[in-house]
Amino acid sequence: MSGMERALEGKVALVTGGASGIGRASALAFSRAGARVVVSDVAVERGEETAELIRAEGGEAAFVRADVARGEEVEALVAATIARFGRLDCAHNNGGIEGELAATADYGEEEWRRVIDINLTGVWLCLKHELAQMLGGGGAIVNTASVSGLKGFPPLLPAYVASKYGVVGLTQVTARQYAQHGIRVNAVCPGAIDTPMLGRIGEGATRLGVPMVAENPSGRLGQPEEVAAAVVWLCSHAASFVTGHTLVVDGGFLA
Ligand code: NAD
Repeated sequence: MSGMERALEGKVALVTGGASGIGRASALAFSRAGARVVVSDVAVERGEETAELIRAEGGEAAFVRADVARGEEVEALVAATIARFGRLDCAHNNGGIEGELAATADYGEEEWRRVIDINLTGVWLCLKHELAQMLGGGGAIVNTASVSGLKGFPPLLPAYVASKYGVVGLTQVTARQYAQHGIRVNAVCPGAIDTPMLGRIGEGATRLGVPMVAENPSGRLGQPEEVAAAVVWLCSHAASFVTGHTLVVDGGFLA
């Protein structure tokens, strides 16, 4: 854990996409760092399960269902966080989808809009309502982008890649705008992390006969906990002069 123990004592953290994978790991990591956690997702059962995992190890957590692509639901999510825990210090805007696999010219218009809606507009809607709440008190926000926000990879996910490039740009412009308000905004760019999403992408690629295997210097997949550790660090006082940064957690893939 290396110095991050209780780094967020007394803080309140919000995690979207907290029912699974990276979001579940970051919800647990926020709690282990001392924060009370609001776990949010569209997946109610597994979201409740994450909150229960936190409570089972002595932390405080609540699940609130919200679709990040719907402004009124995100607004209600932030309001519910304040109603439940009285403040909002840290947010991990992480909920997202990979979308269908298809080449750019073959991509369906409806599917394109669905991916952009959730992955990019969803992050903006979270920022919009979190920033409104944090103004005055300060805070730290981490958006989950991806190595796909820095490289046109993996193949056959054009909407996903475009959405993640969008998240990187949105993180940077927002960080500049809010730096003087004591609000830091950063992004994490995970490489191939062992989660259900990666499993689905792998299955799709196999089905289509597309070679998707990316050479990784580390010779293994990343674990969700390894991304969660970066998220907690970015939200902690240790990162007090870090804003507008995209922190790559990819085992050397982009190097
Ligand atoms: P996952 O599928 O395990 O978890 C994603 C979660 O987001 C799910 O619980 C899902 O229900 C939730 N979600 C989907 N649509 C939502 C919506 N409209 N509103 C709220 N929640 C919604 O995937 P994961 O790998 O943990 O992915 C988490 C984030 O990390 C995503 O943004 C993903 O793009 C990003 N990422 C993952 C990898 C990887 O290799 N796994 C790499 C880079 C980036």
